[in-house]
Amino acid sequence: MEKTPVLVLAPLPDFLMEPLHAAHVCHDYFHAEDKNALLTEVGAEIRGIVMAGGSVSPVPLLERLPKLEIISVFGVGYDGVPVDWCQDHGIRVTNTPDVLTEDVADTASALVLMTSRRLVAANRFLHAGAWTRGPFPLAHALRGKRAGIVGLGRIGKAIAQRLEAHGMSVAYHGRARQEVAWEYFESLIELAEAADFLIAACPGGAATKHLINAAVLTALGAKGTLINIARGSVVDESALIAALQSGTIRGAGLDVFENEPQVPEALMQCENAVLLPHLSSGTHETRREMARLVVENLAAHFSGEPLLTPVC
Ligand code: NAP
Repeated sequence: MEKTPVLVLAPLPDFLMEPLHAAHVCHDYFHAEDKNALLTEVGAEIRGIVMAGGSVSPVPLLERLPKLEIISVFGVGYDGVPVDWCQDHGIRVTNTPDVLTEDVADTASALVLMTSRRLVAANRFLHAGAWTRGPFPLAHALRGKRAGIVGLGRIGKAIAQRLEAHGMSVAYHGRARQEVAWEYFESLIELAEAADFLIAACPGGAATKHLINAAVLTALGAKGTLINIARGSVVDESALIAALQSGTIRGAGLDVFENEPQVPEALMQCENAVLLPHLSSGTHETRREMARLVVENLAAHFSGEPLLTPVC
């Protein structure tokens, strides 16, 4: 079968690039020094795009690909894709749901533990030889505390189950009440007031930009910790830094940032923040499953079969 030309918009692991090279002519847009020249040269032939969850495929780029048929996202979040525009132009979009849910939920509950028990600071304390001079200060227990989950989807539910196992109660906010036993808060401010840990697990994009703002952080208050494994755009990062510096909130555990991989120096200086380099789904097992879905969605599309995990 003839290889289909695809444009690669993100740095991707070898175990994904190898099967992509086997089935497609891959044009590396991400590493291209002259992106405009690459589009001028091959844009008219491109039939597929492969990109990561955190990367973007803006309309002006897509407009230069008249034969584009499908965008396959290596990630569950597709906030970097103009989905409405794709729908209007008959371009299919796929993502990688479910296979990463457990790893992301593990990371969220690890952030809850790391922030509440101050495990990162305790590790630094021991490495610095401070133990011989006295004990590490007491931390806060999880049992009896309340998790407020913003976006009770696949990942949000998996986080809720884990935190219940730690003796926490769970409440949630979303656009609609769900058929679940956990308490629903229509108001995000009221959820923040009621929560000890406010955990963002909703999609990114325009609809949720700065959903967690200064008012929500004030409502979360000094008893509260913000956990974000969703997208950096969901949290107003400047307001968060101010809240961490002033003690308006107790702490934060963050896997995602507004301008990744750039993280503001002021945030890196916050001792009450645990910061991870967007690694929630970053295990060998999960990333290989995600790669399989990317490859199989493209193969299904180009052979006229139904897509495995379509967004549209
Ligand atoms: P999902 O099953 O689609 O769940 C998303 C949830 O968010 C839904 O329950 C939805 O409920 C809620 N939601 C949507 N819009 C909302 C809004 N405006 N306000 C509040 N809640 C809203 O998706 P998922 O698989 O759980 O993934 C969730 C997100 O996690 C992804 O979109 C991605 O951005 C992020 N993620 C991050 C990483 C990482 O590495 N850090 C890895 C994977 C995923 P309603 O429709 O009822 O509002």
